[in-house]
Amino acid sequence: MAKEGKKMGLAIKVLLGLLVGAVVGIIVHYLPAGSLRDAVLIDGIFQFVGQVFLRSIMMCVVPLVFVSLVNGAASMGDIKKLGRVGGKTLGFYLATTAVAIVIGLVMAFIISPGIGLDMGAIDQVEYAAKEATPIAQVLYEMVPRNPIQALAEGNMLQIIVFAILTGIALTVIGDKGKKVLGLFEELNELVMQLVAMVMKLAPIGVFALVARTFGQLGIDVIIPLGKSVFAVYVALALHLIFVYGGLLRVLGGMSIFKYVKKLYPAMLIAFSTASSAAALPANMDITVNKIGASKDIAAFSLPLGNTINMDGTAIYQGVAAVFIAQAYGIDVTLNMALMIVLSATLASIGTAGVSGAGAIMLSMVLTTVGLPIEGVGLIFGIDRIYDMGRTAMNITGDSVCTTIISRQEGEFNEEIWNTDFAKETV
Ligand code: ASP
Repeated sequence: MAKEGKKMGLAIKVLLGLLVGAVVGIIVHYLPAGSLRDAVLIDGIFQFVGQVFLRSIMMCVVPLVFVSLVNGAASMGDIKKLGRVGGKTLGFYLATTAVAIVIGLVMAFIISPGIGLDMGAIDQVEYAAKEATPIAQVLYEMVPRNPIQALAEGNMLQIIVFAILTGIALTVIGDKGKKVLGLFEELNELVMQLVAMVMKLAPIGVFALVARTFGQLGIDVIIPLGKSVFAVYVALALHLIFVYGGLLRVLGGMSIFKYVKKLYPAMLIAFSTASSAAALPANMDITVNKIGASKDIAAFSLPLGNTINMDGTAIYQGVAAVFIAQAYGIDVTLNMALMIVLSATLASIGTAGVSGAGAIMLSMVLTTVGLPIEGVGLIFGIDRIYDMGRTAMNITGDSVCTTIISRQEGEFNEEIWNTDFAKETV
């Protein structure tokens, strides 16, 4: 399988890109400040290469989400199946997100990152809190007034609504829509090919993005906020191992470690770009072709989950809310904790799959719960560090949900799951 060999080669190159990028970035950070470090490397080469990569992936995202969701909704064949799969997908996404926040809250209470924090001791990074959109408005604005505008502006929630309705309409008209359906299937092939071409840039793109992040931040900036970073990453790991691992084990007899071994290239793209959208193409490829989930279900649930299912973001919002409360000396009551769960679940649905979006939505959670919005400034400076981890978890949740629903629908391919693609590459 020469083709597979190439693909796994790419995954390892992406991993190398990430590691080398981190090391180079840290070294560059400690070079003397000056034009070589700042203008030539950090804001020059790293920025240029990273942006070319990121923009090339983003170029594919709107066509990918739209075409894939139309196909995904239409390929269910009948409305009943779409309703069943759609209902399960939504239920899974909401339930895992709520559990994620609870884990985040519990970890934050145990580790207590904000207790005893002298706010003045922390370098406050300027942060202009954006006005948070009320939930009701987020909901009705999901319906696009003009679908072309939604596509042009890359408004994901609106694109999702329009695409699913189009897919349903195609199913209802049946034979009369055959040609259009065929066209969408061909468009899907086209978009996937585009993605494959762009992904060739991944190792160098990932290198540049990570080198820039560490070049700017270094490692010592993380130390004062180390406890909250630690709390977020521990909560992410617990969620991965116990929630996803437990669901996979109980509902599918599958091992989370084997799962991650297969999914890691997509997780690495998510980690280094801090964008679920950027990792969507790799996630679709691996979840179907390396893990064995149903192509039809994945075409529906992955692009949907990419925007509405963000367990990593939810964990981060839970930890951040407690951290900020503690830093300001505010007691978190049970009532407040429940409000955090509710508002962070909704906020994570409205969060776009791009880097930094979760920190903006955090301001909505804080406002809803009545915590000081200025607190976002405390963690905004190193948001990227949280963002990388939470994004990797966001896309893992989408993949796990797709796999479990594929199993329940009897559309999971055991043979693919049991194939060790890594071995075949040597
Ligand atoms: N960067 C995250 C994502 O793309 C969203 C967030 O900022 O939490 O999934």
